[in-house]
Amino acid sequence: MLCATRYCRAAAATAPVVAGPSPEGDPVQIPHDTRRALDVVVALVNTAAEADQPDGLSDIGALRGFVQEYSISDVGDLSARDLAGVRTVRGKFAQVFASPNPRAASILINELVATAGTTPQLTDHDGYDWHVHYFAPGASVGDHLAADGGMALAFIVVSGEQERLRRCEAPDCRRAFVDLSRNRSRRYCDSRTCGNRLHVAAYRARRKEADAEASEHEEVVHRSEQQQDADHG
Ligand SMILES: [Zn+2]
Ligand SMILES: [Zn+2]
Repeated sequence: MLCATRYCRAAAATAPVVAGPSPEGDPVQIPHDTRRALDVVVALVNTAAEADQPDGLSDIGALRGFVQEYSISDVGDLSARDLAGVRTVRGKFAQVFASPNPRAASILINELVATAGTTPQLTDHDGYDWHVHYFAPGASVGDHLAADGGMALAFIVVSGEQERLRRCEAPDCRRAFVDLSRNRSRRYCDSRTCGNRLHVAAYRARRKEADAEASEHEEVVHRSEQQQDADHG
């Protein structure tokens, strides 16, 4: 969906970053192309500068790396204008993630896909099954991302799943992710890092509390023993 040629092939070979397949299977039925486009949206939003992280799209070289990593083809030579355009789209995607309700999200998404000149085109290029490309032929990389990413976000809103567009709840992490868990219970961008880190911290806190209680108890026992000794004396 994202590209004219290489993208679909890359999609088959690369594991999605939105979420791995859950053991129970996918709770949300998201078409493969849409899921790939959501992966790119999440990756793009997460290139933004945060307190402990510089901007991942600081120059044209970084943008070139992003375009290659996500196999976004047909975007031609990249310029400073492309970089500015992609950064603007990134900001709009971040606003969609921050939207309090579907109406707010839909206003942003409508504007995004309209500005990008979104042009749905059925294609069976390179031997792939029929699928839809949303970016207009010859679109800039910013418009390309806005069209395909915007339509993927639109699919989420139409499915009644806007609240699945989340930010990690770990205190020192704000990474975006799409919660594809069955009961919409995912809280961390990555359960093996942020989730596990918090789990360990909570465990340590409980242990510390338990240890403190235990030593307090010991002290009480010790004091009462001393008291008994004193009584005997
Ligand atoms: Zn395609
Ligand atoms: Zn996180």
